[in-house]
Amino acid sequence: MKRIILVVLACALTLPASLRAQSSLDAAAATMGTASLRSLQFTATGQSFVLGQPPTASEPWPVRPVKSYQVNLDYGSNAMRVEQVLTMPVPQPRGGGAPFAGEQRQVQFVRGAFAWNETPPAAGSQTPGIQPQPAAATERLLWMWAASPQGPIKAAASNARVRSVANGSEVTFTVGGRYPVVAFINKMNQVERVTASLPNDVLGDMPVVTTYSGYRNFGGIQFPSRIVQTQGGYPTLDLTVSAVQPNVFLDITVPDQVRNAPSPAPPAATSQKVADGLFWIAGGSHHSLAADMGDHIVVIEGPQNEARSEVVITEVKKVIPNKPIRFVVNTHLHFDHSGGLRAFVDEGATVVTQQGNVAYYEKAWAAPRNLIGDRLSKSGKKAAFQPVADRGELKGSNSRVVELHLLKGNPHNEQILVAWLPAEKVLFQSDMMNPPAPNAQVPPPTPTITNFAENLRRLKIDPDQIVGGHGNRIATRADLNAVAGRAGTN
Ligand SMILES: [Zn+2]
Repeated sequence: MKRIILVVLACALTLPASLRAQSSLDAAAATMGTASLRSLQFTATGQSFVLGQPPTASEPWPVRPVKSYQVNLDYGSNAMRVEQVLTMPVPQPRGGGAPFAGEQRQVQFVRGAFAWNETPPAAGSQTPGIQPQPAAATERLLWMWAASPQGPIKAAASNARVRSVANGSEVTFTVGGRYPVVAFINKMNQVERVTASLPNDVLGDMPVVTTYSGYRNFGGIQFPSRIVQTQGGYPTLDLTVSAVQPNVFLDITVPDQVRNAPSPAPPAATSQKVADGLFWIAGGSHHSLAADMGDHIVVIEGPQNEARSEVVITEVKKVIPNKPIRFVVNTHLHFDHSGGLRAFVDEGATVVTQQGNVAYYEKAWAAPRNLIGDRLSKSGKKAAFQPVADRGELKGSNSRVVELHLLKGNPHNEQILVAWLPAEKVLFQSDMMNPPAPNAQVPPPTPTITNFAENLRRLKIDPDQIVGGHGNRIATRADLNAVAGRAGTN
């Protein structure tokens, strides 16, 4: 009898809770006006930030002011168009990111599994170009459902679990059949926050959190006046909304050249001999340097991702056979230069990096990796680090010396190392300079190049060959003098 009473009591407590949760979703739908909403356009200004390109391991992502931002969402077809104009402050903020001067207009699309960009018309043409962006589809689709607080309510209507939580309710649904999204609805029946994860080569299952605040009536629809998104713990987008128009229809059709685009070519590695037992491993957008140290190998730079590292490791073992890769040198934290490090750790290599980065990697690499399972998460090996302050040195059994030097005060990244092989007069650097094309008009030096040249002068490094983490050939001292202007001359 006692047990029956308990069971009845338990039902009495749980049933109203789930009903309450469901009714809060209905109330939110009524408040947010989603029933008659098929599409939505909003405009904003604000700030955009470059994920994974901070000036130091403890600072936020660098900012690009957003002069204008317009989103068109079509809920029924899973489609979105974003047009934004970014501006570059002068001087450029510390940190990395693709350089541009003045303004940059971007037009981005997603529809289901397809993503593409519109590019300016070629000379003599009126028609804009189309550029497939398959790697961007997941993030854009997630933004399609999170950019407006009406999105999660619309998505929840077809596939969702709803439950009561403190101060509101939580709606869980899936985007792209794979990525779980949780929306928090507050007591005022407003969507206050949307939480999701994206796969990231450095951060694993990277948290993506969108918050909505300052709700008000925009032309008959409740909409937040501020939308902030963080990725990996720092803001990536901060929008102040100026106008919202419900049911503005925009036909977003997947162009044939996007639908029929060949899948991207798999990564490939090439090698070029720099000196005896020293090879530039290139073949993609990001390059490495492999040094035969007698009884082992040092690889400088593990960029991009595991797929890149796999082909680099294979090529390194081909040109320097039967030796283990015992060290991988990381020039700096920027994600495009550190995303492949974990594969080298799994290979048995110790990570040599500036001391300011060690705690960052230890924390980042401890995060869950359900969306991006890699070799290291499967093997469970523990990463070993060899931190470098201002100067470090790796010595081979063949007495080859690889010196590592901090580029002090570098605006691109203040914890960036270069590798210097004094006997061979070979320097490896990333993101400091690329050799200019023959007969190219060389622009005036950036603060980054000037700082690079000043550090080399301070360190009395006078290279014959400058091997790059980017660029399509090995640079010379003359190239450095050309790109660094007066700052480059000794
Ligand atoms: Zn960088």
